[in-house]
Amino acid sequence: MSNISDFVQIAQQRAHVYKKCSPEQALVYVCEDLTDENIGSLSLNSLSASQWIEKVCEQEDIDTPEVHVLPGRTHIRGSSLLENNSICLYGNTAHASTLIHEIAHLMSDGHSHGILFRDEMVRLSRAHISIDYAAMLHALYMGCQLQVSPWEASAIRR
Ligand SMILES: [Zn+2]
Repeated sequence: MSNISDFVQIAQQRAHVYKKCSPEQALVYVCEDLTDENIGSLSLNSLSASQWIEKVCEQEDIDTPEVHVLPGRTHIRGSSLLENNSICLYGNTAHASTLIHEIAHLMSDGHSHGILFRDEMVRLSRAHISIDYAAMLHALYMGCQLQVSPWEASAIRR
C-alpha cells in the first residue's frame, strides 16, 4: 500500500478509537499514529529524550522545558503544561515524534490540536525527525480535511 488516499481512508475509519476526543483531535492523533507506524522516528530512553528535547529547544531558540518522567500509562504517551513550561513523559522510552508533539504544544497555543499546532508539528518534524515523516503527516492532514498551511511553509519558522 503506497497511495496516500488509502491511508486517509484508514485514518477516517480509525478515528473512533479516540472516544473522548473531538472528531478533529481524534483525526490529528490517528494521522500521527499512521505516520509513526509507517515512517517512524527514533526511540529514546528517558535520559536521551531529555537531552534530545534540550537540543531541539536550543535550535528553536525557546526555553527548554522541565521534563518529568512518570510511570507508563496505556492511553497517554506525553503531556505538556504551557503554564510552567514542562513536559511529562509516561514510561521509560519515548519516540522523537511524541517529543515533537509536546514541543509543538509549547510552541503553539497550549492544549489545542488546531491549525497552529498542526503547522508546528509539520515544521518541527521536518526539521528534527525527517522529511519523509513530515511529508506523510502533512499529506494525511490535507487528506483528512484538517486545515494546515502549504507544505512549502514548513521549511521556515514563522
Ligand atoms: Zn496533544
